Amino acid sequence: MPPSIYTVILLLEIVCAVLWTQPAVLSKQRIFVDDSNVITDSACRVISSVISSEASVHYPGSPEYRTDIHHWSGFAIEESRCSIRPADANDLGRILQILGWTKTPFAITGGGHSQNPGFSSTTGIHITMSQFNKLQHNEEEGTIDIGAGLRWDDVYGLLNPKGYTVVGGRVNGVGVAGFTLGGGLSWITNERGLTIDTLVSCEVVLPNGTVVDASADVNPDLFFGLKGGFNNFGIVTRFTLQVFPQSDIWGGAIIVPESQIKQANQAIVNFVDTVRDPKATMNIIFEYAEGSMNAIIIVFYNAPEPPAGMFDEVLHLNGGIVQVSSMPFSSLLAVGQPRNTPRRIQDVAPVQSYSVPLLNKVANQTKYWGSYLEKHHSGYFFDYVVEVFLPDYFNHGSPSSSAWPADRCTVHFPINIVFAWYDQAHDKAVYDPLAQTVNKLKTDAEEEGQEVENASLYPNIVVAGKPLEKLYGSNLQRLREVRDVYDPTRVMNLAGGWHF
Ligand SMILES: Cc1cc2nc3c(=O)[nH]c(=O)nc-3n(C[C@H](O)[C@H](O)[C@H](O)COP(=O)(O)OP(=O)(O)OC[C@H]3O[C@@H](n4cnc5c(N)ncnc54)[C@H](O)[C@@H]3O)c2cc1C
Repeated sequence: MPPSIYTVILLLEIVCAVLWTQPAVLSKQRIFVDDSNVITDSACRVISSVISSEASVHYPGSPEYRTDIHHWSGFAIEESRCSIRPADANDLGRILQILGWTKTPFAITGGGHSQNPGFSSTTGIHITMSQFNKLQHNEEEGTIDIGAGLRWDDVYGLLNPKGYTVVGGRVNGVGVAGFTLGGGLSWITNERGLTIDTLVSCEVVLPNGTVVDASADVNPDLFFGLKGGFNNFGIVTRFTLQVFPQSDIWGGAIIVPESQIKQANQAIVNFVDTVRDPKATMNIIFEYAEGSMNAIIIVFYNAPEPPAGMFDEVLHLNGGIVQVSSMPFSSLLAVGQPRNTPRRIQDVAPVQSYSVPLLNKVANQTKYWGSYLEKHHSGYFFDYVVEVFLPDYFNHGSPSSSAWPADRCTVHFPINIVFAWYDQAHDKAVYDPLAQTVNKLKTDAEEEGQEVENASLYPNIVVAGKPLEKLYGSNLQRLREVRDVYDPTRVMNLAGGWHF
């Protein structure tokens, strides 16, 4: 087969670019570095010449470039050689082919909320999905089509005023794409499941440039892989999700001083042990910041008022500052909004149940590491977020319906641990305490007889570097087989993230 026009342009570009820069190449080290940048820069230019007129390429120094590579956590930002805003699936197909031919590292950003550097950032070519911003509510089908560049705020903004919602984000700003492709834990997960349990179909651009649909009926193996398997198979351009009726909700925050945390833990465990209403849940944030410790209990009931008495114990804690009310669903997004900081990492400690002694240990860990890191490693704030779900929250999807969780029969609840600090010089020093505290909570849970060794770690939260088996368990073999079908030459491995 004769080479395509794109191949010819690319070869010409690369030859020209190498010739132009040859005199500047002084040492072997420079040759290596410069050649890779030369090829990446050439790929930027070639892409610029083959994408549609609605798409664009931006370079360091321009405001568009800065916007494109931005991440919620500054720690996750990397400086790419250029950023690209594809306008449609055809653009993406051409881009992926060029990236594959040139073996150029790249990144795909949805909402830019990944906290692992390199997962949606790169020193190669940055693809932002911001132009995939179409939102269409299909009222008769009870679904919504969501462009892969949108955030949950956009979706709630359209649906909530009409009395509907989706199983989406719990705070402002999080992207639909990464959240959905990693699983999706929502305020209404007890009632409706993970976001992936409500995914009807996707449109995907494969690394060979073809555009396919994935659903339970069309390419079901790809559909299975996308539900937890992120960017291993291609780039998703559209998610179609189920839509559910939504009234105003009741919820808010109860701020508990350190002196009352033990009583709060008893009240939380009483709630966890007795409440089986899927409309009800709570998240507890144990926080150490600026020399002091407290707990913030975020309560949620999916109706304008909760049943009488259901939340009384946490509402009436001594010294608790209670800020709860009926409100539009989307208003709750501002309540648990985490602090932001330039440097921040996160990991997860899964548990099978919450006891008072275990929650007390979580609080102790928060204070111990918070005060230590604040003193020695420019620590800023330390959050241990205890997620409360019903024991059957995985039952909304069938056992083999998704890449994650690996095992829907054995349920775990994530405790998300966030360490934030100021000074770049302390980057390395913070990772080791994070690993230590995760291990400590694992031991604490095991001492209670909990089985946590084989928990499916939540891929949207877990820190980079964990063995894939810990996330995908026995699904890993099947996922590799699916990957071999849709990305036989491993183009998607040029992007960061969890790669099979
Ligand atoms: C403040 C905050 C609140 C959060 N709250 C929750 C919560 O309530 N529940 C929960 O479950 N998680 C939560 N998370 C975790 C969140 O779900 C993940 O960080 C998620 O990956 C973010 O999605 P994104 O699109 O913003 O991320 P990005 O950083 O843009 O992308 C994340 C990953 O998805 C891939 N990706 C993005 N777009 C595409 C695409 N179109 N096709 C293929 N791959 C793609 C990227 O390559 C990357 O590997 C929260 C995170 C933060 C920082």
